[in-house]
Amino acid sequence: MTDPPPTDSEPPIDYDFGAAAAELRLRLRALIREHLPAGFLGAFSDNPADLALTQEFCKVLADEGLLCLSWPTEYGGGGGSVWEQTTVREEMWAHHEPRGAQYMGVNWVGPALMRHGTEEQRAMHLPPIAAGEVIWCQGFSEPEAGTDLASLRTRAEPDGDGWLITGQKVWTSYAQMAQWCVLAATTDPQLPSAERLTLFLVPMDRDGIEVRPIASMLGPHHLNEVFLDKVRVGPQDVLGKVGSGWAVMRDALAYERVGIARYARCESLLARMLAVLDSDDSWDRLAPALHTRWVRALVDLRIARLLAYRAVGEQIDGIDPANAAAARIVTTTCDQSVAEILMEAAGAAALDAGPTGPLAGAVDDHWRYAQAATVASGTIEVQRILVARSVLGASR
Ligand SMILES: Cc1cc2nc3c(=O)[nH]c(=O)nc-3n(C[C@H](O)[C@H](O)[C@H](O)COP(=O)(O)OP(=O)(O)OC[C@H]3O[C@@H](n4cnc5c(N)ncnc54)[C@H](O)[C@@H]3O)c2cc1C
Repeated sequence: MTDPPPTDSEPPIDYDFGAAAAELRLRLRALIREHLPAGFLGAFSDNPADLALTQEFCKVLADEGLLCLSWPTEYGGGGGSVWEQTTVREEMWAHHEPRGAQYMGVNWVGPALMRHGTEEQRAMHLPPIAAGEVIWCQGFSEPEAGTDLASLRTRAEPDGDGWLITGQKVWTSYAQMAQWCVLAATTDPQLPSAERLTLFLVPMDRDGIEVRPIASMLGPHHLNEVFLDKVRVGPQDVLGKVGSGWAVMRDALAYERVGIARYARCESLLARMLAVLDSDDSWDRLAPALHTRWVRALVDLRIARLLAYRAVGEQIDGIDPANAAAARIVTTTCDQSVAEILMEAAGAAALDAGPTGPLAGAVDDHWRYAQAATVASGTIEVQRILVARSVLGASR
């Protein structure tokens, strides 16, 4: 039996981005070649100059109108489509994310401000993000509250017309280098979980904030603890409404989860490794089982890409969190399977973890980060629960 022809309400799906997108890719690659050293592995290396380089590169993208290509021009964006922004995102991830820590502002803080911020907040925060001038961090997780964010303990105690925030955050990516944080706190722990949380926009140099780095295999400047001691915030610092933090976070996390095109990096690494293996005929010497896993990974990467596109297509009206979760699940499992395939293909050379290692250190770099991929931005188990609830039509 053949499929019925598509009707008007079911337009044919065309995932070819077209000639303009192909040109945009070439333009982005030319900028990367011009402004970054060959083999650049991103901001989180042992060389502090790499972080500075990513900041400079963000300004280059911003000057070209490419950093926030899909944002409205009134906020410093390029007025382009979400598909053009997807092209930028894929090229950035395929080249080891030379926007560094900047993607947080671009991917989810900006969209959250557009959807939930006041006009004053948008005018204040969006242009500096679009200009590549500011780094944001996300202060959600706590020692006793990662998955179960509703049970977080950081307290915003009423103080005059505002609050004093006291508590501790953990795993806060980029907190050392960030100028601003979207911080989750509870204004009243007695309220039901859906009404307990509020998000605040807090400058990281405000009195009472202390950042302590956490050493990890993800590289320097990445993970941190943030301690808050009576940090003063006012009504103008609230993102959304008091008590609406849970809904805003849910929305923001869906944007974050589709904003990381790690499938593009995996595809690029597999292509580079294949070129190396082809150059001395060693592809044929790999175990047949590894060939099979390689092909399977290529298929899975295509699935990850298509699931990401489904969520991107929803970006204007609001992403279904279950669709963002489905894309994230496949992308992060691909990250890990590709990391293992690359290690095995490299053979004994994989033990060289430095810049002289396989693909000039890119295999080691990818492997180390891939280990955390199924935890960051919500664990894979929790993403699966989100998808299962959606498929079963269950609210909890
Ligand atoms: C690289 C990296 C970067 C990060 N960056 C940030 C950041 O910038 N800002 C920030 O706020 N946080 C950040 N995090 C924290 C991250 O969001 C949390 O680690 C994650 O949400 C899990 O929370 P947890 O560590 O407290 O683990 P827990 O929530 O304690 O989970 C432990 C285990 O229990 C499982 N589990 C928990 N609840 C359930 C359930 N209901 N059903 C089934 N299984 C369950 C989990 O899947 C997991 O396997 C980052 C984490 C990593 C690894």
